[in-house]
Amino acid sequence: MNTMKALSEETIKKIEKVVGKDGYSTRTADRYAYGFDASIFQSSPDIVIQPKSTEQVSGIMKIANAEKIPVVARGAGTGLCGSAVPIKGGIVLDMSRMDKVKEISVGDTWCIVEAGCVYNDINAALSKYGFQFPCAPGSAEAATIGGMVALNASGMKAVKYGATRDFILGLTFVKADGEIVHAGTKTIKDSSGYQLARLLVGSEGTLGIITEIVLKMATKPKAAASVLAAFKSAEDAGKCVSAIVAKPLVPAACELMDRVSIEAVNIALKNPLPDCQALCIIEVDGEPEVVDRDLKTVEEIATSVGALTVTATKDKAMIAKWANARSSVMVALSSLKPGHSSVSLADDMIVPVSKIPDAVVAYQRIAKKYNVVVATYGHAADGNLHTKMLLNPLSADDWIRGEKAVNEIFDVTVALGGSVTGEHGIGISKAPDFQKERATAMTTIKAIKNAMDPNNILNPGKMEQWEGSILKNLRYPCPEFMTQS
Ligand SMILES: Cc1cc2nc3c(=O)[nH]c(=O)nc-3n(C[C@H](O)[C@H](O)[C@H](O)COP(=O)(O)OP(=O)(O)OC[C@H]3O[C@@H](n4cnc5c(N)ncnc54)[C@H](O)[C@@H]3O)c2cc1C
Repeated sequence: MNTMKALSEETIKKIEKVVGKDGYSTRTADRYAYGFDASIFQSSPDIVIQPKSTEQVSGIMKIANAEKIPVVARGAGTGLCGSAVPIKGGIVLDMSRMDKVKEISVGDTWCIVEAGCVYNDINAALSKYGFQFPCAPGSAEAATIGGMVALNASGMKAVKYGATRDFILGLTFVKADGEIVHAGTKTIKDSSGYQLARLLVGSEGTLGIITEIVLKMATKPKAAASVLAAFKSAEDAGKCVSAIVAKPLVPAACELMDRVSIEAVNIALKNPLPDCQALCIIEVDGEPEVVDRDLKTVEEIATSVGALTVTATKDKAMIAKWANARSSVMVALSSLKPGHSSVSLADDMIVPVSKIPDAVVAYQRIAKKYNVVVATYGHAADGNLHTKMLLNPLSADDWIRGEKAVNEIFDVTVALGGSVTGEHGIGISKAPDFQKERATAMTTIKAIKNAMDPNNILNPGKMEQWEGSILKNLRYPCPEFMTQS
């Protein structure tokens, strides 16, 4: 699908003038490596450029816009939907050299970070002052803040602390034509017209290149505790989640795992979890006396909805062990069935919390109908359910059944009042169903894109622009659906 003609010597010279000799690569190995993210897709760029400043990004965008070269921004490439895969070739703009925490203002409770800054590095810097940026995705060791803003990423703590968008006070971005824009403020709130910084949230590199972010900081909790409750069915685990939220009680995290997820983790990590049909891991945090009170309430609720066992702990090592077991599901799944891989299909649906039990039952029914193994787990207290499919990635028939199951899972999700993605974004793998789900917004979305990027050079072909089946450009050697590049 790469429709680019190779870049001319003259264009490469212009690029070198902006970023220097060590600021770009056209080597085959680099182009190949930058053709992947963590999704099921692959397509190589023509050049990889590693800018060091907003001015260099602006210089590159001016060249790309004049010559109509596609540009795909890239953080760590951990996205799961193909958002950073350059399906039209052109430039991959690797932001990883812009990785500084530039300023921390304790009195104003914000910090300024460059877009390529890694999540864990931001928190290591804030932690010294008793602050945190609490949106940890499962990929916290690698994910960059630019990628997190562009996807509105979040994680286990979103139910209490919110998603990335809730921490953005302002940001600097470079438009398709190279103009540098400072959006938002360094104040906790502002009402100065359009919230332009928010427009870039969830834009997946299609509206501008984010170079710097002003992030609001949250205080770190003084105490934490966790409950692990085992259930005889995924439906009962779903009922536990709904009952906690309805109490009302806001947990710091509330993770649900079904039978397939538990089995996979117990094989891969040598039995850290009880052998049961489903479980919930519920974390509470805050002042010590609040933690004690909430812990007791969670134990009572889990028991009242029929938990088989309820185990509570304040031990940091045990809390970390359970959290790690849950975080390992995605990787552990591939060890479940020989010859099969865990693939990110229908990986991130969100439904109203009260519909969690219905969603879990429906996903299991659909998996059975299409004879695919589907693991369901996720941040259930905010309604965010992940599924991963186990497929033989060399079998065209498996992919076709997988795609049919995906479509039906998304239809059920939307019918329950939900959305195709809670945190991973659209990219390619959710594009057809996103277009269906947001049908009434498509004209407006296309008009915004056209106004911001009239030459359509920023991450073209994704989201609202994707056409047809998602079974194209696959990274796996399945000849029917392989990439051409
Ligand atoms: C094991 C694993 C666990 C994960 N767990 C979670 C989770 O719990 N929650 C969650 O939300 N996600 C999760 N993810 C998905 C992913 O890690 C996150 O969405 C993360 O925020 C992506 O960041 P990145 O730097 O890797 O972005 P990339 O994958 O490099 O890019 C993602 C998108 O952002 C755009 N982009 C990147 N940088 C910029 C920039 N500076 N300006 C403009 N656009 C930009 C890209 O063009 C692309 O469209 C997980 C992934 C893995 C592999």
